[in-house]
Amino acid sequence: MKMMKKAAAVLTAMTMAAVLGACGSSEEAETTAATNAETVTEAETQEEAADTEEETTAEAAEAEESAGGVIVMGTNAEFEPWEFHDGDDIVGIDPEIAQAIADKMGMELQIEDMAFDAIIPSVVSGKCDFAMAGMTVTDERKVSVDFTDTYAESSLVLLVQADNTEITGSDSLADHKVGAQTGTTGDLTATELVGDENVERYNSFFEAVQSLKQGKIDAVLLDSAPAKVFLAQNEDLKQAGEPMNKEEYAIAVQKGNTELLDQLNQAIDELQEDGTIDEIMNKYIPAE
Ligand code: GLN
Repeated sequence: MKMMKKAAAVLTAMTMAAVLGACGSSEEAETTAATNAETVTEAETQEEAADTEEETTAEAAEAEESAGGVIVMGTNAEFEPWEFHDGDDIVGIDPEIAQAIADKMGMELQIEDMAFDAIIPSVVSGKCDFAMAGMTVTDERKVSVDFTDTYAESSLVLLVQADNTEITGSDSLADHKVGAQTGTTGDLTATELVGDENVERYNSFFEAVQSLKQGKIDAVLLDSAPAKVFLAQNEDLKQAGEPMNKEEYAIAVQKGNTELLDQLNQAIDELQEDGTIDEIMNKYIPAE
């Protein structure tokens, strides 16, 4: 009777684990089911010979659970090719590098999509473990978060309507309306160049570009690779002048979290050494 009960419990726990696993349901439930399976299996091995098949399933569940847990990345998936939506998935250079890092750390990567200007606060509050969002290292941001070693370079470029003859670069921007995504280096640099009153801020660069196409603003200031994507998709736009500066992208973590920072730096270093980062970049930003 006792044994019957136990066997039933094992089976229930395992069925739950299997079902939840198959449906990809909430992690919490899955973990609970796996933990149950594990506990019962432990008791079971002491007292009775375990059914081989059940044992294998329990071991698999256990291995999955002890794989190091979940690491949460904060991003804004409106920034192709760095991160963008592909159906229900968030894809791009950053998610792929982050996945390679998580694999090295033996952790499961979870991506949280949010407004760009919410990313640093969410790292500060601990809602996310790290931020990876084509994020430029700036002195101002360094006050709130710590940055890893840089993993990519970028620059800011100006997009204007293809028939614009007035704006030929950053020195001919005065008195023009410049758009950017809120809180980005494009926003900050535009503010320096044309003054707060001439900057239009948007939730995404996509919206800024739509506004430019409609003639509501005169230019958009944004990172070079996303600018290239917009140019490829919009024949009525062009780049004005040369790239303006040099920026470097890095991963942001909570201030003082040296343990995670060291792990990330170690992983970035290895992925740079073995060519993985280059490979991922070349996949999304084909050389000209
Ligand atoms: N590199 C820019 C910044 O860090 C823009 C990033 C973004 O829009 N995702 O501000």
